[in-house]
Amino acid sequence: MTATRVLYMEERKGQDPDPCYRREFDAKVVERGPDYVVLDQTLFYAEGGGQPDDHGILRWTGGEANVPRVTKEKGVVKHHVDRMPEGDDVHGVIDWERRYKHMRMHTSQHIMSGLVFRIYAARTVGNQIHADFSRVDFQPANFTAEDLRRIEGECNRVVDAAMDVRIFEEDRVAVQNRVEDRALLDLIPQSIRRLRIIEVGSADYCPCGGTHLKNTKEIGRVNILEKRSKGKETDRISYELLPP
Ligand SMILES: [Zn+2]
Repeated sequence: MTATRVLYMEERKGQDPDPCYRREFDAKVVERGPDYVVLDQTLFYAEGGGQPDDHGILRWTGGEANVPRVTKEKGVVKHHVDRMPEGDDVHGVIDWERRYKHMRMHTSQHIMSGLVFRIYAARTVGNQIHADFSRVDFQPANFTAEDLRRIEGECNRVVDAAMDVRIFEEDRVAVQNRVEDRALLDLIPQSIRRLRIIEVGSADYCPCGGTHLKNTKEIGRVNILEKRSKGKETDRISYELLPP
């Protein structure tokens, strides 16, 4: 089975709309499972990497199906549906409100992970974003209340600076030299020589396959809710985003 072409992953080159901001697409059904379809291309984000999946609908002439879950296996994206499309041509529409919240959360997580690595030399060892709140696990870390205020303040400075978020491909070796321990490159198969890089102004540079804002000003205010020790020198920071 060929990997699904993932449309939001395409390089950011000033297209209008930007690949991460597209909400609708046309596709062909290339495989049908008991409760899912595989398409030749998609805008739906599949669950994984700490980001929830996109929901939405698939339409065809004479009908439509809800897509309540999207999963991925070896590069093949499975759109779970409550009804099988008739015919092979479908039009997909993603739930933009949900996706945009994830983009704001995910982009803010890059900023927090980048600055915590620079200031405290703590790596991001886990993260899970949601529409309403997110959490990031740092190690080694034992943040004080003052540290948390500083992290929150530094995040919001990046938001206020309205930094552009660039997305481009770079050679793996060059990336390796630049990210040091910020990113766990070992998790990416060695066969992949070109990596998709997310650069958030001067705040972060990291390979990533997720969906991202164009500018940090769209994030709103980062508001840290709490930190909790997870043992093994690991601290979990939970935060929410308030309206800009
Ligand atoms: Zn990312």
